[in-house]
Amino acid sequence: MNSNIELESRYCAHNYHPLPVVLVRGEGVYVWDDQGKRYLDMMSAYSAVSHGHCHPRLVNALSKQAGQLAIVSRAFYTDKLAPFLEKACQMTGQEMALPMNTGAEAVETALKAARKWAYKVKGVADDQAEIIVCDGNFHGRTISIVSFSSEQQYRDGFGPLTPGFKTVPFGDADALEAVINPNTAAFLVEPIQGEGGIVVPPPGYLKRVAKICSDNNVLLLCDEIQTGLGRTGTLLASDHDAVKPDGLILGKALGGGLMPVSLFLSSREVMDVFQPGDHGSTFGGNPLSSAVALEGLNILEEEGLIDASREMGDYFISSLIELQSSLIKEVRGRGLLIGVEFHANKVAARTVCEQLMDRGILSKETHDTVVRFAPPLMITRDQVDEVINQLSQVLAGLAG
Ligand SMILES: *Cc1c(COP(=O)(O)O)cnc(C)c1O
Repeated sequence: MNSNIELESRYCAHNYHPLPVVLVRGEGVYVWDDQGKRYLDMMSAYSAVSHGHCHPRLVNALSKQAGQLAIVSRAFYTDKLAPFLEKACQMTGQEMALPMNTGAEAVETALKAARKWAYKVKGVADDQAEIIVCDGNFHGRTISIVSFSSEQQYRDGFGPLTPGFKTVPFGDADALEAVINPNTAAFLVEPIQGEGGIVVPPPGYLKRVAKICSDNNVLLLCDEIQTGLGRTGTLLASDHDAVKPDGLILGKALGGGLMPVSLFLSSREVMDVFQPGDHGSTFGGNPLSSAVALEGLNILEEEGLIDASREMGDYFISSLIELQSSLIKEVRGRGLLIGVEFHANKVAARTVCEQLMDRGILSKETHDTVVRFAPPLMITRDQVDEVINQLSQVLAGLAG
């Protein structure tokens, strides 16, 4: 057994079940293990590495800023935070942003903003605010967030759970409309459910949801931590429905694959509920993160990564459909956020991932039946062909 794997299982909490490969280097769509073997990365760290591994412009922005000024806390202004937030607001059409680090923190920020908005602006009575979420959601791992997870394992053993959340089926706008009441502060939704298994809602779902929310004075909060920043072939997945959410949550790829950077963005009306001392983060908005994130946003535009994601995503999805394997139940996704669901009684998704790994393709199962294909956005047609070729051989072998 590889000594790094042994050591990690001795010293690191067993809260993940990694594939048995030890990675030591990355460049673009490729990563290399400690034996020098090269892999195509179809995971991109759950979409955090949309720009590719160690993008030279991002590495340059990071090292330049690291040698200049890295962390000062928000007790002071810096020359890096404002340009980053201005760019993020201009690109997304939002008015203000609150910087955090991880996705879960930005989701917590959105929940706090929605509750406080309900009390201060909408006029909901103290402690009565409700937030509606979807069945199959994934928004992170804090106690409050797992409180409204529909995944039993995510909640089990972590009670008492946070109250104030209601769940409706994903993709069902009528169900949302039916549970809204005068205490409803917000509806929190992923435009495409990522960890839930790359679940794409029916066409026009988000458009109807936005109308229902605005008719009822309920905030629409879109968690685009995974779907945002070009992943689905548009800047935001909500752009597919021409919807501008009242609150937008970004993370993952926002840090360019180098830093944890997240944002909660919204209108001035919503963000103004936060007064000094109401909320904060020691590292949120630090100049090192801000410099990297701003460069990441510039790269998305200047290198045409969003269009590339749409074009390669279409090609990838149609190539997967053409495989016509009897093991495949469904291919779904948008842009380069793609899930292949296998028939549960025929093959385990984990087995497919292990065999792909042997053939130099890294991916990871989500739940027991879905394999995710979410490579860096600059993946080429030849690289997609290589994945399809290896996958078809794996499936041929497994089909017997
Ligand atoms: C990954 C993810 C999160 C949590 O982000 P962390 O950085 O892991 O805290 C929240 N929402 C969605 C949709 C995600 O995919």
